[in-house]
Amino acid sequence: PKDTVDVVVVGSGGAGFSAAVAAHDNGAKVILIEKEPVIGGNAKLAAGGMNAAWTDQQKAKDIKDSAELMYKDTMKGGGEINDPALVNILSSHSKGSVDWMTQMGADLTDVGMMGGASVNRSHRPTGGAGVGAHVVQVLYDNAVQRNIDLRMNTRGIEVLKDDKGAVKGILVKGMYKGYYWVKADAVILATGGFAKNNERVSKLDPSLKGFISTNQPGAVGDGLDVAENAGGALKDMQYIQAHPTLSVKGGVMITEAVRGNGAILVNKEGKRFVNEITTRDKASAAILAQTGKTAYLIFDDSVRKSLSKINQYVGLGVAPSADSLMKLAEMENIDGKALTETVARYNSLVTSGKDTDFDRPNLPRSLNEGNYYAIEITPGVHHTMGGVMIDTKAEVMNAKKQVIPGLYGAGEVTGGVHGANRLGGNAISDIITFGRLAGEEAAKYSKKH
Ligand code: ADP
Repeated sequence: PKDTVDVVVVGSGGAGFSAAVAAHDNGAKVILIEKEPVIGGNAKLAAGGMNAAWTDQQKAKDIKDSAELMYKDTMKGGGEINDPALVNILSSHSKGSVDWMTQMGADLTDVGMMGGASVNRSHRPTGGAGVGAHVVQVLYDNAVQRNIDLRMNTRGIEVLKDDKGAVKGILVKGMYKGYYWVKADAVILATGGFAKNNERVSKLDPSLKGFISTNQPGAVGDGLDVAENAGGALKDMQYIQAHPTLSVKGGVMITEAVRGNGAILVNKEGKRFVNEITTRDKASAAILAQTGKTAYLIFDDSVRKSLSKINQYVGLGVAPSADSLMKLAEMENIDGKALTETVARYNSLVTSGKDTDFDRPNLPRSLNEGNYYAIEITPGVHHTMGGVMIDTKAEVMNAKKQVIPGLYGAGEVTGGVHGANRLGGNAISDIITFGRLAGEEAAKYSKKH
């Protein structure tokens, strides 16, 4: 029967597609359901990169890194409250995940810097195009090659269990078919987070009330309800991340890689005020403390050339430019004299190799080539660190830390990997590694049942 499989995957983001492909490759018959009319979730919007340590791509660029260092950076960025066993998986599997994606056809050869990382470890396509759209496309192509049954406009409603509490399938609602059961030995929840749901967000963190969000419309958290109703415990729900740089015009998320590749942050007074490469929680707080709760990303043509994603921002009209800093400042209502001094000072710090003003760890290039750009930015709700509790096999656990047989979770729907604050570049790493792990484990489990 066509509605009976080994593994059902709920959600078509990076975690869901990775899980579906891995479950298939481990011998399972798979259905992947997605409630929205489009695939890719928030994963396809990710632009920064995929963090991984000790990769061939890093070695080719003489970057010295290790899984231990990635572990340390991730724990530190997360306020040391991350689940150490999950962070260990994230960092020690990261090279394998990059290799797995590369074998499937991904290009992750460009390696750049993101906030909170000790070294360049954010992998992305050559020239710096958006990593999320690329990764989702590669995974989708691989799912299609494998004839995986992908059902769009189909929402996962309620997990079905037998009298011993083991998963037997899931009640779904198809846009045209209505409600029906999909029978399966294992269900993988890969339903993402809830940053688009400001009611839910602001109940957990009132300081985020009314904030705009970077997320796709489906990121409202109904998958968390599915997990809870099935007995899964939620953890760290109060930790919600603002992305420091959404364009004030249009709310476009401006990737952290713009700063990683050399842009500085200045306020209306034309002054720098923070280490631009700090973690997202600190950068957001610093921006909110400036006049009008906004700031400007300032960069030049050399930064633009290093990251093709910037062409999109220019095309969208959110990155006005001028051939001098004075003109740019006038257009954007920034103090021009101060801005000119700030950039000159910054360039001298680049030359000296040390940021004695704000301790910025990377100073990739001076800002003095061709046109100058300014993107006015403000923080927006971006990522929800909390979620369903999983163990090291991606099995969902209840409040007593007992597993719910046959129920798995991967990606933003889970809590624990990122602690209180996620590092840029760790989301794509998380969803590929844990999606793949959940797919493998669910396939193995279903063979035994
Ligand atoms: P991750 O980054 O963890 O893979 P994403 O946000 O990229 O998460 O993807 C999650 C996907 O799951 C989104 O496409 C979202 O629309 C989908 N989704 C969320 N809840 C449900 C649900 N109840 N049923 C089916 N799909 C869902």
